Amino acid sequence: MTISKIACDHYRIPLPVTLSDATHGDMTHFDLITVRITDADGVEGLGYTYTVGSGARAIRSLIADNLSPLLQGADETLIEALWERMWWSMHFVGRGGMAAFAIAAVDIALWDLKARQANMPLWRMLGGYDAKVRAYAGGIDLQFPLEKLLDQTRDNLAKGFRAIKMKVGRDVLSEDVARVAAMRDLLGDDFPLMVDANMRWTNDQAVEAALALADLRPYWIEEPMVPEDIAGFARLRQLSPAPIATGENFHSLSEFQAMISAGGVSFPEPDVATCGGVTVWMKVAKLAESYNLPVTSHGVHDLHVQLLAAVPNASYLEVHGFGLETFMADPLTVSEGFATAPDRPGHGVSLDWDRLAALRA
Ligand SMILES: [Mg+2]
Repeated sequence: MTISKIACDHYRIPLPVTLSDATHGDMTHFDLITVRITDADGVEGLGYTYTVGSGARAIRSLIADNLSPLLQGADETLIEALWERMWWSMHFVGRGGMAAFAIAAVDIALWDLKARQANMPLWRMLGGYDAKVRAYAGGIDLQFPLEKLLDQTRDNLAKGFRAIKMKVGRDVLSEDVARVAAMRDLLGDDFPLMVDANMRWTNDQAVEAALALADLRPYWIEEPMVPEDIAGFARLRQLSPAPIATGENFHSLSEFQAMISAGGVSFPEPDVATCGGVTVWMKVAKLAESYNLPVTSHGVHDLHVQLLAAVPNASYLEVHGFGLETFMADPLTVSEGFATAPDRPGHGVSLDWDRLAALRA
């Protein structure tokens, strides 16, 4: 029970199509930072995190220069102890932020390794609830012309999705309302349709938008405001007929604790690759459960299907078209609205290192 090797790599991966939302502008690439941890018997665990735009080289440096020396020779099965050691080693410059991305990539690799050593799928090792998880297509489509948005939606229906999310937060609220109305027309009254504003609005604008969209019955309104505005979230949740989702920009357990305990969120959405890893994601899920809330996910769906399959309060799995699946041996598929966590050992993700090599950053 000794870590014999840690390898960290960084790749810059082109997106299949240019994506857009209300705060990140046009996105053409994403950065993937991988961690491979090998035990004394040669069993390997894989972890990864990602960024869009900036920070990737710094995260790689935190892993390679700061975390790897801490882990070399350690007992890989003591994940909580290793997590605490990593957290405190970077506390002064961390407490979340980029440090949480770096810790997450390592933590995911440790959990993958532990499950592979036990020859169990991760979702069973973490508790085991139901391999079948409801999934939605997470559109990143704010600047798509309406016809392209509707075509993307028809395509998602044909792919097996039975829930869909679209971006809102255009310059004029009436354009958002018209686009959501067109989607509602296409999808029918009872189809789960989420909307995501990517923090575009002030608190008053968010209240106005929530009321303007109320008749169109969004399944949830995601990230209406910046994550720091906890009081604003609590106010909005009182005034909005639609539930509120947030959490992809939280990078620590305490940020989730503050928002959930303030009553500001209906659907917490931790991202395992940016919140500190499986260790923290599971604590957020349990925290949500204790408040009688579901938990959803953000990004990296091939990992999150394992985590949502492990817990009793799973809501929808977000499925993004980021293109990482083209580098995987058996990418996740969706059928009749559900994704199924694979029963392979670990999280079940295997990357094509030969093809990734050409994209090394
Ligand atoms: Mg979002």
